[in-house]
Amino acid sequence: MKKSAVKFKITFTLTAIFLAAGCAAGPPIYYELPVEFRFPEKQKEFIGNYSEYLLGKKIFIDPGHGGEDRRSVGVNKLVVEADINLAVALALRDFFREAGVEVIMSRDRDMTVDLKERSYMANRSGADLFISIHHNAPGQAGGHWVNYTSTYYHAKETDYEYEPSERDLARYIQRDLAYAMRNSGGLGSFDGTYSDYNIYPGAGFSVLRVTEIPSVLVECGFFTNPFEEQRLALEEFNKIQAWGIFRGICRYFAAGVPEIRLLNDPEKIIGSSNLSFSITDKSGINPASIKVYFDSTAYNNFSIDETNRLLTVSLDQIASGEHVIRIIAANKNNNYAFPYHQKILIKNSI
Ligand SMILES: [Zn+2]
Repeated sequence: MKKSAVKFKITFTLTAIFLAAGCAAGPPIYYELPVEFRFPEKQKEFIGNYSEYLLGKKIFIDPGHGGEDRRSVGVNKLVVEADINLAVALALRDFFREAGVEVIMSRDRDMTVDLKERSYMANRSGADLFISIHHNAPGQAGGHWVNYTSTYYHAKETDYEYEPSERDLARYIQRDLAYAMRNSGGLGSFDGTYSDYNIYPGAGFSVLRVTEIPSVLVECGFFTNPFEEQRLALEEFNKIQAWGIFRGICRYFAAGVPEIRLLNDPEKIIGSSNLSFSITDKSGINPASIKVYFDSTAYNNFSIDETNRLLTVSLDQIASGEHVIRIIAANKNNNYAFPYHQKILIKNSI
């Protein structure tokens, strides 16, 4: 074969490979349709099976940025972060609605919403959960090939503000979202969940710090990665992302969240008496998980009646006056109760 013919053959072969891979404009697009997208009856079946665990729940969805904040744009200008956040959020809302769940959103179109106002809206809404949806960009050290899926909860385990229920929720969402996108969770964490203190030490993300209901923030993928950007520009892929988040939240509720209830009247507590709390969950309570705090100080003078799911706290080491009691408890599936902070007034006598 003549030299020019060899060159033609190589050029032709490479062109054919690139065309076959759909690579003319960039790297190949690859994603997998979840089984529930290939067979619509499977999707109906999943939603039907899990809707009992979502009964009466209210979800607050916060698509990040928008309006005046449209600065974050993909490397090939195929996506604006604000728009893909909204696309995923709207698809997620639709899945929840199909399951009979009430959804409240900080925005459902392209508009400016103040960062703190997003949390205030969630606090006023009476929602059970807050989920903020974002897409990521690398810090100074990262390049265009950085891409992974991550989910953030507020504070570190050693911090008083740390609520283990937020980490539980983050884990469930992260697992199913990362799987739906076929992304890893990054190298900075074993399971792809991160404390927001990793980004802002001691403060975390404003939306997670100011929001009082259990809250997480997802960074679905990197719009700065040319491969990921092409997928994020596809409506079908945004729906797959939303499906991953939806599945994660469904499974979280199916694993159960214990409920804590004070059985005394918080206004009529005498110093010499005990406080009684019922802690209920269908899977049972893990007694080793229980922690009690009085005004941010750990307190060990309590006992647990596992059979009757009762927690008794003795007040003999507590001065009279107003206090905040905080309780942490997990069920047998290791899912923690939502943040529980109860104000009580202890009197010397009634
Ligand atoms: Zn963002």
